[in-house]
Amino acid sequence: MQTFTYSRARSINELRAVQAATGDRILAGGTTLYDLMKLRIETPDRLVDVTGIAGLDEIISHPDELVFGALVTMSDAAAHPAVLQRAPVLAEALSKAASQQLRNMATLGGNLLQRTRCAYFRNGTEYPCNKRTPGSGCAALEGLDRGHALFGGSGSCIAVYPGDWAVALVALDAVVDVRGSRGTHTIDVASLHRLPGDTPHVETVLEPDEMILNIRVPVGRLAQASTYHKIRDRESYAFALVSAAVALELEEGFVRQARIALGGVATRPWRVPAAEAGLTGRRLDRATALEVGRMTFADARPGRHNGFKIALGAEAVADALMIAAQRSENR
Ligand SMILES: Cc1cc2nc3c(=O)[nH]c(=O)nc-3n(C[C@H](O)[C@H](O)[C@H](O)COP(=O)(O)OP(=O)(O)OC[C@H]3O[C@@H](n4cnc5c(N)ncnc54)[C@H](O)[C@@H]3O)c2cc1C
Ligand code: SF4
Repeated sequence: MQTFTYSRARSINELRAVQAATGDRILAGGTTLYDLMKLRIETPDRLVDVTGIAGLDEIISHPDELVFGALVTMSDAAAHPAVLQRAPVLAEALSKAASQQLRNMATLGGNLLQRTRCAYFRNGTEYPCNKRTPGSGCAALEGLDRGHALFGGSGSCIAVYPGDWAVALVALDAVVDVRGSRGTHTIDVASLHRLPGDTPHVETVLEPDEMILNIRVPVGRLAQASTYHKIRDRESYAFALVSAAVALELEEGFVRQARIALGGVATRPWRVPAAEAGLTGRRLDRATALEVGRMTFADARPGRHNGFKIALGAEAVADALMIAAQRSENR
Protein backbone atom coordinates (compact mmCIF):
# COMPACT_ATOMS: atom_id res chain seq x y z
CA MET A 1 0.00 0.00 0.00
CA GLN A 2 1.31 3.48 -0.76
CA THR A 3 1.53 6.12 1.97
CA PHE A 4 -1.43 8.45 2.39
CA THR A 5 -2.57 11.20 4.70
CA TYR A 6 -5.55 10.73 6.96
CA SER A 7 -7.82 13.41 8.41
CA ARG A 8 -11.25 13.52 10.02
CA ALA A 9 -14.20 15.75 9.17
CA ARG A 10 -16.65 16.54 12.00
CA SER A 11 -19.32 18.22 9.84
CA ILE A 12 -20.44 18.35 6.24
CA ASN A 13 -19.13 21.90 5.98
CA GLU A 14 -15.70 20.77 7.19
CA LEU A 15 -15.77 17.95 4.63
CA ARG A 16 -16.71 20.39 1.87
CA ALA A 17 -13.84 22.70 2.85
CA VAL A 18 -11.31 19.85 2.90
CA GLN A 19 -12.47 18.46 -0.43
CA ALA A 20 -12.53 21.88 -2.11
CA ALA A 21 -8.95 22.52 -0.96
CA THR A 22 -7.31 19.15 -1.50
CA GLY A 23 -9.78 16.73 -3.14
CA ASP A 24 -9.52 14.19 -0.30
CA ARG A 25 -11.22 10.85 -0.83
CA ILE A 26 -14.10 9.92 1.50
CA LEU A 27 -13.39 7.09 3.95
CA ALA A 28 -16.30 5.50 5.84
CA GLY A 29 -15.99 1.97 7.30
CA GLY A 30 -12.94 1.30 5.11
CA THR A 31 -13.92 -2.31 4.40
CA THR A 32 -13.85 -1.76 0.65
CA LEU A 33 -11.50 1.17 0.23
CA TYR A 34 -8.59 -0.23 2.28
CA ASP A 35 -8.96 -3.55 0.47
CA LEU A 36 -8.68 -1.86 -2.92
CA MET A 37 -5.73 0.22 -1.74
CA LYS A 38 -3.88 -2.91 -0.62
CA LEU A 39 -4.50 -4.37 -4.07
CA ARG A 40 -3.24 -1.06 -5.56
CA ILE A 41 -6.47 -0.73 -7.54
CA GLU A 42 -7.22 2.50 -5.70
CA THR A 43 -4.31 4.83 -4.88
CA PRO A 44 -5.69 7.96 -3.19
CA ASP A 45 -3.01 9.94 -1.40
CA ARG A 46 -5.42 11.77 0.92
CA LEU A 47 -8.32 10.26 2.87
CA VAL A 48 -10.91 12.10 4.93
CA ASP A 49 -12.74 10.00 7.48
CA VAL A 50 -16.41 11.00 7.60
CA THR A 51 -17.57 8.65 10.36
CA GLY A 52 -17.49 11.46 12.96
CA ILE A 53 -20.02 13.62 11.10
CA ALA A 54 -23.01 13.97 13.40
CA GLY A 55 -26.57 13.16 12.36
CA LEU A 56 -25.80 10.66 9.59
CA ASP A 57 -25.89 7.56 11.80
CA GLU A 58 -29.62 7.49 12.47
CA ILE A 59 -32.63 5.66 11.06
CA ILE A 60 -35.87 7.63 11.10
CA SER A 61 -39.20 5.89 10.58
CA HIS A 62 -41.78 8.26 9.05
CA PRO A 63 -45.34 7.12 8.25
CA ASP A 64 -44.54 6.63 4.55
CA GLU A 65 -40.76 6.56 4.43
CA LEU A 66 -37.68 5.11 6.12
CA VAL A 67 -34.71 7.46 6.15
CA PHE A 68 -31.25 5.95 6.67
CA GLY A 69 -28.21 8.12 7.36
CA ALA A 70 -25.35 7.09 5.08
CA LEU A 71 -23.15 6.32 8.14
CA VAL A 72 -25.54 3.81 9.71
CA THR A 73 -23.75 0.48 9.87
CA MET A 74 -25.11 -2.51 7.99
CA SER A 75 -25.60 -4.43 11.23
CA ASP A 76 -27.55 -1.61 12.93
CA ALA A 77 -29.87 -1.26 9.92
CA ALA A 78 -30.38 -5.04 9.62
CA ALA A 79 -31.45 -5.30 13.28
CA HIS A 80 -33.62 -2.17 13.44
CA PRO A 81 -37.22 -3.05 14.44
CA ALA A 82 -38.84 -0.65 11.96
CA VAL A 83 -36.76 -2.04 9.10
CA LEU A 84 -37.53 -5.64 10.04
CA GLN A 85 -41.22 -4.94 10.28
CA ARG A 86 -41.80 -2.39 7.52
CA ALA A 87 -39.34 -3.50 4.82
CA PRO A 88 -37.96 -7.00 5.51
CA VAL A 89 -36.32 -7.08 2.05
CA LEU A 90 -33.88 -4.42 3.31
CA ALA A 91 -33.05 -6.18 6.57
CA GLU A 92 -32.55 -9.50 4.77
CA ALA A 93 -30.35 -8.02 2.04
CA LEU A 94 -28.10 -6.56 4.73
CA SER A 95 -27.99 -9.54 7.07
CA LYS A 96 -27.16 -11.92 4.20
CA ALA A 97 -24.20 -9.77 3.11
CA ALA A 98 -20.56 -10.16 4.12
CA SER A 99 -19.84 -11.27 7.73
CA GLN A 100 -20.96 -9.95 11.12
CA GLN A 101 -17.56 -8.29 11.69
CA LEU A 102 -17.72 -6.53 8.32
CA ARG A 103 -21.34 -5.49 8.85
CA ASN A 104 -20.37 -3.92 12.18
CA MET A 105 -17.85 -1.65 10.41
CA ALA A 106 -19.39 -1.15 6.97
CA THR A 107 -21.75 1.74 6.32
CA LEU A 108 -24.85 1.90 4.13
CA GLY A 109 -23.38 4.65 1.94
CA GLY A 110 -20.11 2.76 1.44
CA ASN A 111 -21.99 -0.42 0.62
CA LEU A 112 -23.66 1.25 -2.36
CA LEU A 113 -20.27 2.22 -3.78
CA GLN A 114 -18.44 -1.08 -3.50
CA ARG A 115 -16.72 -2.27 -6.67
CA THR A 116 -16.93 -5.50 -8.61
CA ARG A 117 -15.45 -8.77 -7.38
CA CYS A 118 -14.38 -9.78 -10.92
CA ALA A 119 -11.20 -11.79 -10.26
CA TYR A 120 -9.42 -10.29 -13.28
CA PHE A 121 -10.10 -6.80 -11.92
CA ARG A 122 -8.85 -7.64 -8.44
CA ASN A 123 -5.97 -10.01 -9.13
CA GLY A 124 -3.02 -7.96 -10.22
CA THR A 125 -2.03 -6.27 -13.42
CA GLU A 126 -1.27 -9.39 -15.46
CA TYR A 127 -4.76 -9.46 -16.97
CA PRO A 128 -6.27 -6.88 -19.31
CA CYS A 129 -9.13 -5.11 -17.55
CA ASN A 130 -10.88 -2.03 -18.92
CA LYS A 131 -12.27 -1.21 -15.51
CA ARG A 132 -8.85 -1.19 -13.89
CA THR A 133 -6.83 0.16 -16.83
CA PRO A 134 -9.11 1.82 -19.40
CA GLY A 135 -8.46 0.64 -22.95
CA SER A 136 -6.50 -2.49 -21.94
CA GLY A 137 -9.22 -5.03 -22.86
CA CYS A 138 -11.33 -7.46 -20.87
CA ALA A 139 -9.91 -10.82 -19.81
CA ALA A 140 -13.33 -12.13 -18.78
CA LEU A 141 -14.78 -12.00 -22.30
CA GLU A 142 -12.56 -14.91 -23.37
CA GLY A 143 -11.86 -16.22 -19.87
CA LEU A 144 -13.76 -17.70 -16.94
CA ASP A 145 -17.13 -15.95 -16.78
CA ARG A 146 -18.96 -18.11 -14.23
CA GLY A 147 -19.57 -15.13 -11.97
CA HIS A 148 -20.22 -12.60 -14.70
CA ALA A 149 -23.27 -10.77 -15.98
CA LEU A 150 -26.27 -12.04 -17.89
CA PHE A 151 -27.68 -8.52 -18.19
CA GLY A 152 -26.22 -5.10 -18.96
CA GLY A 153 -22.79 -6.21 -20.19
CA SER A 154 -20.94 -4.60 -23.08
CA GLY A 155 -18.03 -5.50 -25.35
CA SER A 156 -15.83 -3.69 -22.81
CA CYS A 157 -16.95 -5.24 -19.52
CA ILE A 158 -19.28 -7.93 -18.19
CA ALA A 159 -18.51 -7.53 -14.48
CA VAL A 160 -21.34 -8.01 -12.02
CA TYR A 161 -22.32 -5.35 -9.50
CA PRO A 162 -21.84 -7.42 -6.34
CA GLY A 163 -23.86 -5.66 -3.61
CA ASP A 164 -27.12 -6.83 -2.04
CA TRP A 165 -28.47 -3.67 -0.36
CA ALA A 166 -28.72 -1.69 -3.63
CA VAL A 167 -30.78 -4.47 -5.21
CA ALA A 168 -33.33 -4.32 -2.39
CA LEU A 169 -33.37 -0.51 -2.60
CA VAL A 170 -34.02 -0.57 -6.34
CA ALA A 171 -36.97 -2.92 -5.80
CA LEU A 172 -38.52 -0.35 -3.45
CA ASP A 173 -37.84 2.75 -5.60
CA ALA A 174 -35.41 4.25 -3.06
CA VAL A 175 -33.49 7.49 -3.57
CA VAL A 176 -30.26 8.95 -2.19
CA ASP A 177 -29.66 12.57 -1.13
CA VAL A 178 -26.24 13.71 -2.22
CA ARG A 179 -24.14 16.79 -1.45
CA GLY A 180 -21.12 18.17 -3.33
CA SER A 181 -19.97 21.18 -5.31
CA ARG A 182 -23.16 20.91 -7.41
CA GLY A 183 -25.18 21.47 -4.21
CA THR A 184 -27.63 19.01 -2.68
CA HIS A 185 -29.69 16.83 -4.98
CA THR A 186 -31.54 13.53 -5.08
CA ILE A 187 -30.83 10.52 -7.29
CA ASP A 188 -32.91 7.36 -7.77
CA VAL A 189 -30.84 4.40 -6.60
CA ALA A 190 -31.85 2.79 -9.92
CA SER A 191 -29.90 5.53 -11.73
CA LEU A 192 -26.91 5.69 -9.37
CA HIS A 193 -24.88 2.93 -11.05
CA ARG A 194 -24.01 3.26 -14.73
CA LEU A 195 -24.01 0.56 -17.37
CA PRO A 196 -20.41 -0.18 -18.41
CA GLY A 197 -20.77 0.79 -22.08
CA ASP A 198 -17.28 1.62 -23.31
CA THR A 199 -16.27 3.37 -20.05
CA PRO A 200 -16.61 0.63 -17.40
CA HIS A 201 -14.22 2.47 -15.06
CA VAL A 202 -16.88 5.18 -14.58
CA GLU A 203 -19.24 3.27 -12.31
CA THR A 204 -21.69 5.80 -10.87
CA VAL A 205 -23.22 9.15 -11.73
CA LEU A 206 -21.64 10.77 -8.63
CA GLU A 207 -19.00 13.46 -8.97
CA PRO A 208 -15.74 12.70 -7.08
CA ASP A 209 -16.55 15.31 -4.41
CA GLU A 210 -20.12 14.18 -3.79
CA MET A 211 -21.13 12.48 -0.57
CA ILE A 212 -24.26 10.40 -0.07
CA LEU A 213 -26.00 11.82 3.00
CA ASN A 214 -29.19 9.77 3.27
CA ILE A 215 -30.97 6.87 1.69
CA ARG A 216 -34.76 7.29 1.62
CA VAL A 217 -37.10 4.37 1.04
CA PRO A 218 -40.86 4.64 0.47
CA VAL A 219 -42.62 2.08 2.65
CA GLY A 220 -46.21 0.87 2.66
CA ARG A 221 -48.10 -2.37 2.02
CA LEU A 222 -45.78 -3.34 -0.81
CA ALA A 223 -42.58 -3.03 1.24
CA GLN A 224 -44.08 -4.97 4.15
CA ALA A 225 -44.67 -8.06 1.98
CA SER A 226 -41.13 -8.25 0.68
CA THR A 227 -38.13 -10.54 0.82
CA TYR A 228 -34.53 -10.89 -0.34
CA HIS A 229 -33.61 -14.37 -1.50
CA LYS A 230 -29.89 -14.92 -2.06
CA ILE A 231 -28.30 -17.99 -3.63
CA ARG A 232 -24.53 -18.39 -3.16
CA ASP A 233 -21.82 -21.01 -3.24
CA ARG A 234 -21.92 -21.31 0.56
CA GLU A 235 -24.58 -20.29 3.02
CA SER A 236 -22.78 -17.33 4.55
CA TYR A 237 -19.98 -14.87 3.86
CA ALA A 238 -20.31 -15.10 0.07
CA PHE A 239 -21.49 -12.84 -2.71
CA ALA A 240 -24.65 -13.71 -4.62
CA LEU A 241 -24.57 -16.08 -7.56
CA VAL A 242 -28.07 -14.81 -8.06
CA SER A 243 -30.44 -12.95 -5.80
CA ALA A 244 -34.01 -11.72 -6.02
CA ALA A 245 -35.54 -8.76 -4.18
CA VAL A 246 -39.30 -9.06 -4.39
CA ALA A 247 -42.22 -7.04 -3.02
CA LEU A 248 -45.90 -7.78 -3.53
CA GLU A 249 -49.26 -6.25 -2.90
CA LEU A 250 -52.03 -8.85 -3.10
CA GLU A 251 -55.78 -8.37 -2.97
CA GLU A 252 -57.87 -11.50 -2.43
CA GLY A 253 -55.07 -13.63 -3.85
CA PHE A 254 -54.56 -11.46 -6.96
CA VAL A 255 -51.42 -9.37 -7.52
CA ARG A 256 -52.15 -5.62 -7.47
CA GLN A 257 -48.50 -4.57 -7.63
CA ALA A 258 -45.19 -6.40 -7.88
CA ARG A 259 -41.55 -5.44 -7.72
CA ILE A 260 -38.75 -7.71 -8.89
CA ALA A 261 -35.04 -6.81 -8.87
CA LEU A 262 -32.08 -9.10 -9.44
CA GLY A 263 -28.59 -9.19 -7.96
CA GLY A 264 -25.48 -11.18 -8.85
CA VAL A 265 -26.43 -11.39 -12.52
CA ALA A 266 -26.15 -7.88 -13.93
CA THR A 267 -23.69 -5.03 -14.26
CA ARG A 268 -25.86 -2.95 -11.96
CA PRO A 269 -28.86 -3.67 -9.71
CA TRP A 270 -31.40 -4.95 -12.21
CA ARG A 271 -35.10 -4.21 -12.07
CA VAL A 272 -37.33 -6.30 -14.37
CA PRO A 273 -40.48 -4.27 -15.25
CA ALA A 274 -41.66 -6.76 -17.90
CA ALA A 275 -41.89 -9.56 -15.33
CA GLU A 276 -43.60 -7.22 -12.85
CA ALA A 277 -46.20 -6.35 -15.50
CA GLY A 278 -46.57 -10.03 -16.41
CA LEU A 279 -47.52 -10.81 -12.82
CA THR A 280 -49.91 -7.94 -12.19
CA GLY A 281 -53.57 -8.94 -12.08
CA ARG A 282 -52.84 -12.67 -11.79
CA ARG A 283 -53.56 -15.12 -8.99
CA LEU A 284 -50.23 -16.22 -7.55
CA ASP A 285 -49.48 -19.90 -7.16
CA ARG A 286 -46.21 -21.83 -7.52
CA ALA A 287 -46.73 -22.50 -11.28
CA THR A 288 -47.34 -18.80 -11.96
CA ALA A 289 -44.38 -17.84 -9.78
CA LEU A 290 -42.09 -20.12 -11.80
CA GLU A 291 -43.48 -18.84 -15.09
CA VAL A 292 -42.73 -15.28 -13.93
CA GLY A 293 -39.30 -16.40 -12.72
CA ARG A 294 -38.54 -17.67 -16.23
CA MET A 295 -39.95 -14.47 -17.73
CA THR A 296 -37.52 -12.51 -15.53
CA PHE A 297 -34.59 -14.13 -17.34
CA ALA A 298 -36.08 -14.03 -20.86
CA ASP A 299 -33.57 -11.40 -22.05
CA ALA A 300 -30.53 -12.96 -20.36
CA ARG A 301 -27.37 -13.12 -22.45
CA PRO A 302 -25.22 -15.90 -21.01
CA GLY A 303 -21.53 -16.35 -21.79
CA ARG A 304 -19.71 -19.64 -21.69
CA HIS A 305 -19.84 -20.61 -18.00
CA ASN A 306 -22.71 -18.64 -16.45
CA GLY A 307 -25.76 -20.05 -18.27
CA PHE A 308 -26.61 -22.13 -15.19
CA LYS A 309 -27.72 -18.92 -13.48
CA ILE A 310 -30.81 -18.69 -15.69
CA ALA A 311 -32.59 -21.77 -14.30
CA LEU A 312 -31.20 -21.06 -10.82
CA GLY A 313 -32.41 -17.46 -10.99
CA ALA A 314 -35.89 -18.40 -12.22
CA GLU A 315 -36.27 -20.71 -9.20
CA ALA A 316 -34.93 -18.01 -6.87
CA VAL A 317 -37.46 -15.48 -8.16
CA ALA A 318 -40.27 -18.05 -7.84
CA ASP A 319 -39.25 -18.88 -4.24
CA ALA A 320 -39.05 -15.19 -3.37
CA LEU A 321 -42.50 -14.54 -4.82
CA MET A 322 -43.99 -17.33 -2.72
CA ILE A 323 -42.31 -16.01 0.46
CA ALA A 324 -43.57 -12.48 -0.25
CA ALA A 325 -47.08 -13.81 -0.98
CA GLN A 326 -47.10 -15.61 2.37
CA ARG A 327 -46.07 -12.38 4.10
CA SER A 328 -48.79 -10.49 2.30
CA GLU A 329 -51.43 -12.97 3.56
CA ASN A 330 -50.08 -12.88 7.13
CA ARG A 331 -50.07 -9.08 7.35
C1 LIG B 1 -14.81 -10.29 2.39
C2 LIG B 1 -15.95 -9.40 2.03
C3 LIG B 1 -17.19 -9.93 1.75
C4 LIG B 1 -18.26 -9.09 1.41
N1 LIG B 1 -19.48 -9.64 1.11
C5 LIG B 1 -20.50 -8.82 0.73
C6 LIG B 1 -21.76 -9.34 0.38
O1 LIG B 1 -22.00 -10.55 0.41
N2 LIG B 1 -22.72 -8.46 0.00
C7 LIG B 1 -22.51 -7.10 -0.04
O2 LIG B 1 -23.43 -6.34 -0.38
N3 LIG B 1 -21.32 -6.58 0.29
C8 LIG B 1 -20.32 -7.41 0.67
N4 LIG B 1 -19.10 -6.89 0.98
C9 LIG B 1 -18.88 -5.45 0.77
C10 LIG B 1 -19.08 -4.66 2.05
O3 LIG B 1 -20.42 -4.68 2.39
C11 LIG B 1 -18.58 -3.26 1.74
O4 LIG B 1 -17.16 -3.35 1.82
C12 LIG B 1 -19.03 -2.20 2.70
O5 LIG B 1 -20.43 -2.10 2.75
C13 LIG B 1 -18.46 -0.85 2.32
O6 LIG B 1 -18.80 0.10 3.30
P1 LIG B 1 -17.67 0.96 4.01
O7 LIG B 1 -18.38 1.89 4.92
O8 LIG B 1 -16.65 0.08 4.64
O9 LIG B 1 -17.09 1.71 2.76
P2 LIG B 1 -15.60 2.29 2.51
O10 LIG B 1 -14.67 1.17 2.25
O11 LIG B 1 -15.24 3.27 3.54
O12 LIG B 1 -15.88 3.10 1.17
C14 LIG B 1 -16.24 2.42 -0.01
C15 LIG B 1 -16.32 3.44 -1.14
O13 LIG B 1 -17.42 4.32 -0.95
C16 LIG B 1 -16.99 5.68 -0.82
N5 LIG B 1 -17.88 6.21 0.21
C17 LIG B 1 -18.13 5.68 1.43
N6 LIG B 1 -19.15 6.33 2.02
C18 LIG B 1 -19.56 7.28 1.15
C19 LIG B 1 -20.60 8.25 1.17
N7 LIG B 1 -21.45 8.38 2.19
N8 LIG B 1 -20.74 9.07 0.08
C20 LIG B 1 -19.92 8.95 -0.99
N9 LIG B 1 -18.91 8.06 -1.05
C21 LIG B 1 -18.75 7.22 -0.01
C22 LIG B 1 -15.52 5.62 -0.46
O14 LIG B 1 -14.81 6.76 -0.93
C23 LIG B 1 -15.10 4.35 -1.22
O15 LIG B 1 -14.89 4.63 -2.58
C24 LIG B 1 -18.05 -7.70 1.36
C25 LIG B 1 -16.80 -7.15 1.68
C26 LIG B 1 -15.75 -7.98 2.01
C27 LIG B 1 -14.42 -7.36 2.32
S1 SF4 C 1 -15.35 -8.01 -16.78
FE1 SF4 C 1 -14.89 -5.84 -16.40
S2 SF4 C 1 -13.82 -5.90 -14.46
FE2 SF4 C 1 -13.71 -7.98 -15.28
S3 SF4 C 1 -11.84 -8.08 -16.55
FE3 SF4 C 1 -13.48 -7.45 -17.91
S4 SF4 C 1 -13.31 -5.21 -17.87
FE4 SF4 C 1 -12.26 -5.93 -16.06
